[in-house]
Amino acid sequence: MSCDETFTEFLTRRGVSRRSFLAFCATTASALALPAEAARQLAANLATARRPSVIWLSFQECTGCTESLTRSGAPTVEALILDHLSLDYHHTLQAASGAAAEQARRNAMAANYGSYVLVVDGSIPTADGGVWSTIAGVTNLEMLRETMEGAALVIAVGTCAAYGGIPAAAAVTAPRLNQSGARSVGDLMDAGAIPSLPLVNVPGCPPVPDVISGTIAYFLANGSLPELDDQNRPRAYYGKTVHERCPRLSHYRNGEFAFAFDDEGAQKGYCLYLLGCKGPETHNACPKVRWNLNTSFPMHSGHGCLGCSEAAFWDRAMAVDGSGFTGSCFYPDIRP
Ligand code: SF4
Repeated sequence: MSCDETFTEFLTRRGVSRRSFLAFCATTASALALPAEAARQLAANLATARRPSVIWLSFQECTGCTESLTRSGAPTVEALILDHLSLDYHHTLQAASGAAAEQARRNAMAANYGSYVLVVDGSIPTADGGVWSTIAGVTNLEMLRETMEGAALVIAVGTCAAYGGIPAAAAVTAPRLNQSGARSVGDLMDAGAIPSLPLVNVPGCPPVPDVISGTIAYFLANGSLPELDDQNRPRAYYGKTVHERCPRLSHYRNGEFAFAFDDEGAQKGYCLYLLGCKGPETHNACPKVRWNLNTSFPMHSGHGCLGCSEAAFWDRAMAVDGSGFTGSCFYPDIRP
C-alpha cells in the first residue's frame, strides 16, 4: 500500500468487500464498548485513514505473538491491517536481512519521524550491559531507545513486552532465573532508561490478535488511543476478568466443579476452578474475542485459564510453599 492510498482504496484493491469492512468496524466498535453511532464514525474515519508507518521490534520472545497474528485467519480485514498494511520493519516477516533490514528501519524512521507506531514484543535484557540479546550488533535496549526517538506511541504486544513475561521469571526456588535482567517497556520508561511515550500494553501469551488490530484500528481512525486502565491496557478489552465472561460461570455459581480433567464434571462442562483456573483474577477479552477467527479459548477447550495476561505470569505457576514447579494447570494459591 502506498502512503497516499486510503484504507478503503487498499481494501478494494485486495478484494475485500465493503460489507466485510463494515462488519469489522461493527465488531471492533462492539469489542471496544463504543455506542452504535461510534461504529459508523469508526468506519468513516478508518475508510479515509492514510497508512501509518509501523516498526515492529522483536526482542526476548518466542515469536508466539507474531504466530498468533499471522495464523489468525486470512484474508480478513484484521489480517490485512496487521500483515499487509502497516509493517515497514518486522524481524520475522520482512524479506530484507542484515544491513538492508537495518537501513529499512532507519528509512522508515526518517520518512515518518514523529508519527510512526512502534510495536514491541519480547522483554528487554538489561544485565551485563544488555549483551544477552543483540540485533545487528547493538543491544535490544540500544535499538529500542534509538527507535523510540521519532515514534508517536509504543504498543507493547504480549506479556513479555508488557510485564517481562517468561524471560523475567524469577521464582522463589530459582531466584537467578532472570539472569538476563529482562524488563518490560513500561519498567524501562519508569526507570528513565528510555524516553517516555504514550504506551499501550496488550498483554497475553499470546495476545488475541483482534485486540491488537482493534487497538491499531482505533488509533488509525481517531488519532488517539482508546481508554486505558491503570496498567495501560485498553479498558474495553481488559476491563473484566475472564471469569466474568466465562461460559462456565453458571456452574461456578451453582457449585458444580470438575475435580479431574476426565471426570464426569469435566465432561459436563463444569467449572475448572478446582483444577487451578486463574480466570477469577485474570483480565482479558479471550472469552469474548477468541483466537483463530473466534473459534476457541482455553475454557472453551476444557483447560483452565493460565493467567497469561497478568503481571508475574509465569512465576505464579510455582507452588506457593516454594517446593518447586507444579505445572501450568495447577495453581494452589487460589484453591479454597
Ligand atoms: S472455569 Fe475458571 S473462569 Fe470459568 S467460571 Fe470456572 S473459575 Fe471462572
